[in-house]
Amino acid sequence: KQSAALEMTKWFDTNYHYLVPELEPDQTFSLGSTKPVDEFLEAKALGIHTRPVLVGPVTYLRMAKSRTAGFRPLELLDGLLGVYEEVLRRLADAGADWVQLDEPSLVVDLDAAERDALAVAYGRLAAAAPLKLLVAAYFGQLRENLETAVSLPVRALHVDMVRGRDELDAILRALPADKLLSLGVVNGRNVWRTNLQDAVATVQKAAGALGADRVLVGPSCSLLHCPVDLDGETGLDGELRSWLAFARQKIGEIGVIAAAVNSGMAPGERSPSPAAGQVLDENARAVQSRRTSPRTQNPAVKQRAAAVDDAMLCRRSDFPARRKLQREAIPLPPLPTTTIGSFPQTPEIRRARAEFKRGELSREAYEEFLRGQITEVVQFQEQCGIDVLVHGEAERNDMVEYFGEELEGIAVTSGGWVQSYGSRCVKPPIIYGDVTRPGPMTVRWIQHAMQGTGKPVKGMLTGPVTILCWSFVRDDQPRSDTCRQLALAIRDEVVDLEAAGVGMIQIDEPAFREGLPLRRDQWAEYFRWAVDCFRLSASGVADATQIHTHMCYAEFNSIIDSIAAMDADVISIETSRSNMELLDAFVRFEYPNEIGPGVYDIHSPRVPTTESMVQLLRKALEVLRPEQIWVNPDCGLKTRRWEEVRPSLVNMVAAARAVREELS
Ligand code: GLN
Ligand code: ZN
Repeated sequence: KQSAALEMTKWFDTNYHYLVPELEPDQTFSLGSTKPVDEFLEAKALGIHTRPVLVGPVTYLRMAKSRTAGFRPLELLDGLLGVYEEVLRRLADAGADWVQLDEPSLVVDLDAAERDALAVAYGRLAAAAPLKLLVAAYFGQLRENLETAVSLPVRALHVDMVRGRDELDAILRALPADKLLSLGVVNGRNVWRTNLQDAVATVQKAAGALGADRVLVGPSCSLLHCPVDLDGETGLDGELRSWLAFARQKIGEIGVIAAAVNSGMAPGERSPSPAAGQVLDENARAVQSRRTSPRTQNPAVKQRAAAVDDAMLCRRSDFPARRKLQREAIPLPPLPTTTIGSFPQTPEIRRARAEFKRGELSREAYEEFLRGQITEVVQFQEQCGIDVLVHGEAERNDMVEYFGEELEGIAVTSGGWVQSYGSRCVKPPIIYGDVTRPGPMTVRWIQHAMQGTGKPVKGMLTGPVTILCWSFVRDDQPRSDTCRQLALAIRDEVVDLEAAGVGMIQIDEPAFREGLPLRRDQWAEYFRWAVDCFRLSASGVADATQIHTHMCYAEFNSIIDSIAAMDADVISIETSRSNMELLDAFVRFEYPNEIGPGVYDIHSPRVPTTESMVQLLRKALEVLRPEQIWVNPDCGLKTRRWEEVRPSLVNMVAAARAVREELS
């Protein structure tokens, strides 16, 4: 018997994914792995004494889900704590003295039961073993959870001094005298060099209030979210490079900050050690250079962004009028079939790209190769009987990095990999300055696809919010300003595609939801600018041009009205893995435009049967009107192999045809 894979979702507001535990009321827990102990011992054998890190029990349960209505996994705390106690005992036996428990849930909106659960959990864990526990809160401010956080009966609390810096005074006032405070002053989520002067001042303040022996210095959160080492990035412009720090450089910064404070340097004073003084001076010059460099400023871009008005955020007519014109321009059968954009990135494609990047393949030869790939993908889709074709994205190593390469004001690295899920990594571009589009980025590829077919071809772009979320973003202006610049660049591309005769254009926004602030009271403000940026990118075209968008791994129930406000003519979404659970949102909210609920899980090698997709479509028909529905996979096919994609899409087209029959 095959079982569907666990749902995978974003870890807080990062682009790192975790498998969502599914817990039921009768759940029991037992220790299934000795990984934390094994790894502690492995490091110890190398002479390195580590502080093991575990996900805290309350965060673990909060991030889990249940299929049982009304049941909260948090109710399982008691049973789960038994396993944590056992792990802590084993770590203590193995020689650990400190253990870190990550409770990033401390920076989100908690209810009283969740706050109580934290107190109960740490009451028990603190007594479980002769260990010193450090509870780590990160990714934001503690706010009303501050009291809970400082009162946990553990030896040390870690706080995020990047996103939560203005809480330092309140924390210093509230922290009980027996506790240590770990200050996350180096940003674990971004690539900019730390302003060491500011960081030193923050740590000095805490050391002054608590005594230096009660203060620890660290990154704001795990360094998993930034690339490993800047040293290999010899291709980057020297000035830009001088502004950056990756994980290794950040570790160095932490050392410098601690040394500066330990040397007894008074606030505002020069370091007594000439070597440390030199490091701090050099850092101050780099910080100053980024602040003032003309490389980051483009007055024309700023002016254009400032001149955006409401008319630029709106299509000319409302959806019903547009739909009519779009169907006249491009007639389609009921339940039209399409895909999300990418086709398999074969070893052959990757090899050609690598050769091109190394200079072994000329640009002409590489582009000729890509055109050949596009032709093949188009022919396959025609044979398959798909209604709306795509070009397959062979030219894109990654949907964000590609646009990072094409746009100005954005740099790409050669080895700045960051884990996204499992063994998959991405290389987020670095948005360092005002963003402009030097010229069309995708038009020639879509045109080539159109030459090979009489069927409609959908243009394929990455949306502004997703480029923002999946890049390292400048921190010298609001994210919303950067996003608006990206939106203008994408808008120009959309208009160019339309001018080239492309009648359907998809603007992918899979990161739309993860851009949401962790706190509910900041959602409205985010939605305002994020929805506007999408609309800005999409609204430069005539009514007859159909705008698609795509989102995946998104939990829609709470955000469906904002998704509707984006006013895309068609949206495709992930649903198959959660068995169309996501469609619940559409029961309560009547989604006005067209929608393609994914019927085929592309994150698994399994070939879906026609019958399984027929079932999912019938389910969709229970809550959506037939003329609203599109048939498509969950997401792009780039990570799949042709052997899986071919039969899967054949089955998908068969499923659409079968349900069309039922309808007529
Ligand atoms: N168009 C992109 C693709 O098909 C969308 C990927 C995504 O949603 N993550 O690969
Ligand atoms: Zn997707």
